[in-house]
Amino acid sequence: MTITTKSPKETHNIGKLIGEKVKPKDFVALIGDLGSGKTTFVQGIAEGLGIKIPVNSPSFVIVKEYQGKYPLVHVDIYRLKNPIDELFNIGFEEYLRREYIIVVEWADKIKDIFPENNLQITFSYNGENERMLSFIPNGDRFIKLIEEVKQCIY
Ligand code: ADP
Ligand code: MG
Repeated sequence: MTITTKSPKETHNIGKLIGEKVKPKDFVALIGDLGSGKTTFVQGIAEGLGIKIPVNSPSFVIVKEYQGKYPLVHVDIYRLKNPIDELFNIGFEEYLRREYIIVVEWADKIKDIFPENNLQITFSYNGENERMLSFIPNGDRFIKLIEEVKQCIY
């Protein structure tokens, strides 16, 4: 599934739709260059989960936790040289084991540790206010989730 958005708000709203549907242990992998809309999308997910405090790109922290309908873990590994090693050093596998929703920016750097079931979203820049979001659902649960999202937007 591919969606083109024409404003930050539209990207936010697609994120919100996903945020309304995700469940603990879901893993959402965001891939795309700086400024392609990943954090904007995470803010939408947070709104969909009813999270009230603002979500922004963690500058020095790698992982931030938020409490909503379910707990959200927002990971940004942009600055990490050896992201898999550094994530394991901070005990990231605990997050994978527990009842969190995990959303990772720059997730292409840690493809080797993706859970089998995951939702992969690639963001690309199509012009100043236009972004393209390509969704790849891996596993039955995400295939179904994306079918539901399609019905909401098309
Ligand atoms: P990333 O986390 O991928 O670096 P951000 O979400 O932080 O990206 O930034 C995206 C930037 O692009 C913001 O300044 C936002 O206002 C702008 N923008 C313009 N059009 C869009 C769009 N359609 N979707 C998302 N962001 C957009
Ligand atoms: Mg970001």
